[in-house]
Amino acid sequence: MKMIFMGPPGAGKGTLAAKVGEMFKILPISTGAIFRSAMSSGSALGLKIKAIVESGGLVDDQTTVQLVKERLAQADVQKGYILDGFPRTIPQAEELAKFSAVERVLNIRISDADVMERLGGRQVCRTCGYNFHVIFDKVAKEGVCDHCGGEVYTRNDDKPDAILKRLDVYREQTAPLIGYYREKGVLYEMQAMVKFDDTMESFKKSMGL
Ligand code: ADP
Ligand code: ZN
Repeated sequence: MKMIFMGPPGAGKGTLAAKVGEMFKILPISTGAIFRSAMSSGSALGLKIKAIVESGGLVDDQTTVQLVKERLAQADVQKGYILDGFPRTIPQAEELAKFSAVERVLNIRISDADVMERLGGRQVCRTCGYNFHVIFDKVAKEGVCDHCGGEVYTRNDDKPDAILKRLDVYREQTAPLIGYYREKGVLYEMQAMVKFDDTMESFKKSMGL
């Protein structure tokens, strides 16, 4: 199954994609995670995009599309994938349609207030990517991942100014994709849930699985 998970920042796309990927044996691919690892490796790509990503802006379509195109050409995703964080603009979606046939698009709805609360307290593991929260899902030992022992940190784009900017960018550039995919007849929608079990239920119900 070739799928896209869409929704505002903080909707829970990445967490859900990891779980669904495990269940259905398909690989989640997160452009945000690819960009973050480029940034921490200090590669040419990382240096080029660091300021943009940390301020909450979008990496240019050409760079992003090229990266996804190369990733989707690899053997491990020929039967399926879950794209998390791509496409984020109409031009990205139009390009994607030229090299891969997406079967389902899931849109996760969440209010701005919930986004601020979730992202404002988020802490991320640098190694396994697990998302903790200073109130809802605390690490046992400050700065250390409970799951893999990796370093837990606050993303620069999870600071309040950058979150507001990401919400604006989402509204202007990404939200139009909902109508785009609805017209194509591949759109499924669900509400973001607080508890993970409810999220899985909501996911299965909305996808008819
Ligand atoms: P979130 O969904 O929580 O905003 P992501 O990890 O998906 O976070 O993305 C982090 C950042 O990486 C984005 O704010 C943006 O700067 C960059 N990025 C990720 N995906 C794309 C994309 N498809 N196009 C442009 N920029 C992207
Ligand atoms: Zn970890």
